[in-house]
Amino acid sequence: MYDSIVIGSGFAGAVVARELAEKKGQRVLVLDARDHVGGNCYDRLDEHGILIHQYGPHIFHTNIDRVYEYLSRFTEWYDYRHEVVGNIYGRELPIPFNLNTLELVYGERAPHLEKLLIDNFGEGARVPILELMNHENEELQEIAQYVYENVFLKYTMKQWGKSPKEIDPAVSGRVPVLLSRDNRYFQDKYQGLPKNGFTPIFEKMLDYKGIEVRLNCEAASVLTIDPEAAVPVLFEGQPYTGNIIFTGALDELFDCRFGRLPYRSLHFDFEHYDKKFYQSHGVVNYTVSEDFTRITEFKYLSGQLDAPDTTIVKEYPMSYSGKEGEIPYYAINNAENDALFQRYKELVDKIPNFYLLGRLAEYKYYNIDAIVDRALTVAEEI
Ligand code: UDP
Repeated sequence: MYDSIVIGSGFAGAVVARELAEKKGQRVLVLDARDHVGGNCYDRLDEHGILIHQYGPHIFHTNIDRVYEYLSRFTEWYDYRHEVVGNIYGRELPIPFNLNTLELVYGERAPHLEKLLIDNFGEGARVPILELMNHENEELQEIAQYVYENVFLKYTMKQWGKSPKEIDPAVSGRVPVLLSRDNRYFQDKYQGLPKNGFTPIFEKMLDYKGIEVRLNCEAASVLTIDPEAAVPVLFEGQPYTGNIIFTGALDELFDCRFGRLPYRSLHFDFEHYDKKFYQSHGVVNYTVSEDFTRITEFKYLSGQLDAPDTTIVKEYPMSYSGKEGEIPYYAINNAENDALFQRYKELVDKIPNFYLLGRLAEYKYYNIDAIVDRALTVAEEI
C-alpha cells in the first residue's frame, strides 16, 4: 500500500517524504511518536502569545543555495540577526570571541594582539580554540588560555560533562575564535527565522497528495524489524518490501541489544515575565557561572519586539538514560560510541531499501541546513 514509510517528521523525515511524493508520485506514510510534526524544530505560541521553540532554540543559517531555495518554498523569512553574548562574571562579551571581544578584554594591548593574530592566521580567519592553544607564541597562548577558561571550559563541562579537550574537537570548533569585528554568531550567506515559525513549514511540506501522517504512533507498534529474518520488515503484520526511512535513535529500534548509544539530553525551564525585555540579546551564554548553559529570550527570535511581556528558556544539560519523557538531543561522538553505532548500523545495512537519516539515526551533529541538504540527496538516491 505504501511505497515508503518514513519514521519521524523532523526536517529529515519531512523533506524526504515530500520529495518522494512530489517528484516520484510515491504513496508515503509518515509516522511520529509525538502528537505534533516537526521533531525538535517544533514551535508554538505559548499561553501569552509568544512563539516559543519547545525543544530549544533553532536558528536557520546556510551557505547552501539549494537548501535556502527549497525551504523558501514553504516559508518567508524574518531577517533575524543572531548575536550572542557571554555573561562572564556579570560582564557581557560578544561570542564567538572576536576582535571586538579582544578589545573589551585587553584594552590598550588589543591593537598589538590583533596584529599578532592576523599576522599568524589572516584577517577573517576562524580559528578553533584548541588550535589556538597549541600555538607556540606566548601571547597567543595567553589569549587562548583566556578564551578557553572564560568561554569554553565551564560551558562545555555543563553541556557535555567533559572538558573541551576531552570531546570531539569538531564540537568546540563550531564556535571558533573569529578574526573580524562581525558580532553575529553565524557568518553564513543566508540566515533568519521562518516568519510564522518552523511548524507551518512542516505542515505545508507534509500536506501533499500521497502523504499520510500518523501522529502518536510509535514505529514499533506497526513495524517489526528483524534483519536476520527471510522477510526483515513486517508492517502491521504483513511483509513489507518498500522503502523505510528511519530518523529515530537506532539502538532503540533494536531494544538496545548491544547496549545504549550515549546521547546528551537537556531539560528546559520556561519562564514568563511581565516586562518588555528580560535580557540584552536573543541568547545569553553563561560561560563561567550557573547550572544552565544559556538563556534564550524568544521575542528576539520571532520578532515580537512590541509584545508587552516576554518568555525565556533556560537550558540545563543532562545525560540521557532512555527513561520515559527524556529526549536525546546530541550524539556524543568519540571512537567508542561511534564503534557501537557501527554495530547497530551493520544490522540495518543487511535490510534492503532501509535508510538512516538525521541526527539520531546517523549519530551525527547535523545543523538544519546540513540535514535538509542530506535529505534532498537521499531522496534523489531513492
Ligand atoms: N561552546 C562553549 N561556550 C560557548 C558556546 C559554545 O563552550 O559560549 C562550546 C560547547 O562545547 C558547545 C559547542 O561549543 O557544545 C557548540 O556550541 P553551539 O552553540 O554550536 O551548540 P548548539 O547550539 O548546537 O547546542
